Amino acid sequence: MKNPIDLRSDTVTRPTPGMLEAMMNAEVGDDVFGDDPTVIALEEKAAAMFGKEAAVFCPSGTMTNQIAVRVHTHPGDEVICDALSHVYHYEGGGMMANSGVSVRLVNGDRGRFTVNDAVSNINPDDIHHPRTRLVVIEDTCNKGGGSIWSIEEIRRIYLACQHYGLKLHLDGARLFNALTETGEKPSQYGELFDSVSLCLSKGLGAPVGSLLMGDRAFIKQARRIRKLFGGAMRQSGFLAAAGIYALDHHIRRVKDDHTRAKMIARTLSERPFVKEILPVQTNIVVFTLQDHISEDEFIERLRKSGILVLGFGPRKIRMITHLDFGDEELERVVQVLQNLF
Ligand SMILES: *Cc1c(COP(=O)(O)O)cnc(C)c1O
Repeated sequence: MKNPIDLRSDTVTRPTPGMLEAMMNAEVGDDVFGDDPTVIALEEKAAAMFGKEAAVFCPSGTMTNQIAVRVHTHPGDEVICDALSHVYHYEGGGMMANSGVSVRLVNGDRGRFTVNDAVSNINPDDIHHPRTRLVVIEDTCNKGGGSIWSIEEIRRIYLACQHYGLKLHLDGARLFNALTETGEKPSQYGELFDSVSLCLSKGLGAPVGSLLMGDRAFIKQARRIRKLFGGAMRQSGFLAAAGIYALDHHIRRVKDDHTRAKMIARTLSERPFVKEILPVQTNIVVFTLQDHISEDEFIERLRKSGILVLGFGPRKIRMITHLDFGDEELERVVQVLQNLF
């Protein structure tokens, strides 16, 4: 099938003509020597948006999360995160392999837990237990179906972390999807977290890249770990230019992705092959098929109709809307779903 409609992820987008032009015209240097002006401009721009002292540009969101865990912890420490979180599920066991930490999983509501969940999982100060050191929050939560955290709950968790001497990291791979719905500002999140990770390559439409933000001392250490992990790049200003373009032009259009995701969910809710759909708050639609349909069969049927989706567990399917998915594509998807099975 030529030119399928690709709903597997919001990472599949191609740079727009404007973004490509910005990339081609980027002024670059060698970022390992710290003299790529476009990388510096991106890092300064992001840090200013989030009210953080500094930022470091990395190849992926996996790397920004892994660097944060490494900088915040020592081997043998424990990290509290939700059972659905990317940092636990989808980073190849990186927390354990890269930082030698143990993980305490919280069973929250679609990836979101409460201050009580966090506090009740802090270990007592006793030589038998790993030392609880870090809490990780994922907003929006991918496996939770793009669920949005309440900033009030995050503030309560922040205060608890302050009280118990824990660090707090935000996996904000899709934070702008959350902010688009809540109307909150990035700086409100910068205030509450020791470190913030943001993906430029998801809903914002850049081809590559994530940012890690924090205070100067944290980012200095993060640069050391980025080098250690093999993530220090050379003329990365070409990629940073795409990131700057994404922050300037692609935040305001994220709302359209949410509207289209809700349209897909509405169509699905009327179809007999669907058992359950997670509430759609942002650009992610996760649903469960009826017992007699396997996800492989469903994925193959859609593929034959020119639509790519992702299997997300037994009889579970994920669809994500994005920059390259417009009204025409939406119409086509709705039509196919209405005639499927
Ligand atoms: C995509 C994603 C990441 C990072 O993924 P990379 O593909 O490594 O950039 C981290 N956290 C969440 C929640 C994500 O969805």
